[in-house]
Amino acid sequence: MHPKLAADLGRLPQLLDATRDLAAAALAGVESRPVATRSDAPARVPLPVDGSGAEGALAWFAQRWQPGFSASAGPRYLGFVTGGATPASIAGDWLTSVFDQNAASPGGSSAAELEHETLGWLAELLELGDAHSGAFVTGATTANFAGLAIGREWLGERRGVSVAQAGAGALGHVEVLSGTPHSSVHKALSMLGLGRDSLHPVPTPPGRESVDLAALAERLDALAGRPAIVVANAGTVNTVDFDDLAAIAELRRRYPFWLHVDGAFGAFAGLSAEHADRVRGLAEADSICVDLHKWLNVPYDAAVVFTRRRDLQVRVFQNAAAYLGRPGDDPDFLHLVPENSRRLRALATWFTLAAYGRSGHRDIVERTIACARKLGAVVDRLPGLRLLAPVRLNVVCFTVEGDPAEDRVAEVVRKVAESGAAFVTPTVYDGIPAIRAAFSNWRTTEADVDVIAETLRAAAQ
Ligand SMILES: *Cc1c(COP(=O)(O)O)cnc(C)c1O
Repeated sequence: MHPKLAADLGRLPQLLDATRDLAAAALAGVESRPVATRSDAPARVPLPVDGSGAEGALAWFAQRWQPGFSASAGPRYLGFVTGGATPASIAGDWLTSVFDQNAASPGGSSAAELEHETLGWLAELLELGDAHSGAFVTGATTANFAGLAIGREWLGERRGVSVAQAGAGALGHVEVLSGTPHSSVHKALSMLGLGRDSLHPVPTPPGRESVDLAALAERLDALAGRPAIVVANAGTVNTVDFDDLAAIAELRRRYPFWLHVDGAFGAFAGLSAEHADRVRGLAEADSICVDLHKWLNVPYDAAVVFTRRRDLQVRVFQNAAAYLGRPGDDPDFLHLVPENSRRLRALATWFTLAAYGRSGHRDIVERTIACARKLGAVVDRLPGLRLLAPVRLNVVCFTVEGDPAEDRVAEVVRKVAESGAAFVTPTVYDGIPAIRAAFSNWRTTEADVDVIAETLRAAAQ
């Protein structure tokens, strides 16, 4: 054995302690550290020939790389839709590496069963009933990809071809209809061979990002019975608007389509009694995308794709080989997702659900919504800032007065980042350059909102 490996093996408990100390210090400082980094990345160095052992690597990391990491796990990072990591989820994530299980198939371990238990808990949390089965993937992009891949196979079934066998070319013209789809849907359609051009935007009512139901029905009607895919959106990134899922599902009585719901973060709105209405009809979907590293606050990277048609899912993703066996009635995960070998991705989620349950996660959802509302009310009063949409859930979308608006937005985003007190990201909403402040971290409190509001006020002056 290499001497450095042998030495590390002999000192494993001490190494883990040293790592724990670094982790504890990093997390203890996550609320006070600059939210966005101000230091440049270090110059790259060549590959070490012998290496410096784990403790050497730890010191080297702490010196060269750690200073440039953002406090995105902290309470005032409001860019994109960035979840933090609950204490229990971090414990679960660490143990994922310690046990280093391959969740692709049982292989003499109960690890895959733990994933099934966790998927069952998530289905309960989202009130999906028994008709759906889930599988872990790396993020909502992959969950959208997998859900749409199953939808593509369904289109083939309707047209009497197997796309998994014959390729996407066998389908001919395909229409994917959606109101305000996430960019990852375009990417998924590119990867699926359906093409970005297969996505046909459906109008949304003025001032809304939800699909216009009458316009959607009209588009479906124009297809004259040809099956399509509808991507319904449960939580848009700019203004967290929701399609009327129940009403869209109803349209399947009249028109043949695969209903995929992108509920990356919005699916969790149902945890709050006040907002449960927004996800009514979610369980009717044929496939559903849910991110876990956003509002559920587990570390990157984790998401789930749910579907009612596991048979079609197996057709797409099956990986039959002599040494792996054929997928049976209860197919292993390697027959259900793009990955074959993979980590026990469920463990962090298992830990957070075991630790905090439904009520703990309801608290995170309700508290972050309250924080967004509070900031929304402040922005509404601050001179120079203007809300572009009501704060529907956990995102505040606003613009900066001034000319040109794009430059003013860029300036405020930059000043906020430079302050080190908060971090927001730019967007364009309804053609207007804008700023998004997205609340999805379990640590955020109303006291943080006061700091964020003051930072915005100073940056917009
Ligand atoms: C974040 C997001 C995605 C993509 O998720 P990743 O985890 O970045 O792959 C898709 N849809 C919606 C609505 C999102 O918010």
